[in-house]
Amino acid sequence: MTRLPDPRSLLRRHGLHCTYSRLRILTLLRGSGQHLTATEIHACLERTGDGHRSATVYRSLETLTALGVVHAVPGPGPTRYGITDEPHRHTVCQQCGRVADLVSVPLVDAVNRIEALTGLRPGTSGSLLVYGARSGCAA
Ligand SMILES: [Zn+2]
Ligand SMILES: [Zn+2]
Repeated sequence: MTRLPDPRSLLRRHGLHCTYSRLRILTLLRGSGQHLTATEIHACLERTGDGHRSATVYRSLETLTALGVVHAVPGPGPTRYGITDEPHRHTVCQQCGRVADLVSVPLVDAVNRIEALTGLRPGTSGSLLVYGARSGCAA
């Protein structure tokens, strides 16, 4: 479902060293196909016996986000991180904080038009966020 290049070439393309923790984080995000919190990422890496210090995980996520290798989606709840090459927006569940990609061509067109009209540039983190409650999550 994803046409992402492998983590190594992704890091190299952004001029980053292939540190062990960066590679593990990218591999995890790519494999999960989801948006995960730093805590979830840390827990997953620990479960696979990698024993990363959480400070290292946070620092790596910061670097990867700053360079646009991964994108951060603000809460409710903790920030979630995702990875994809496709331009997309996000839906956010206000009850549980779960983030999903919203890939829609008309929507991308609409955002481009908003950009042309207002001069506001949407960030890669999906400045157009759609909030609501997922079915089963209604309060
Ligand atoms: Zn995303
Ligand atoms: Zn929910």
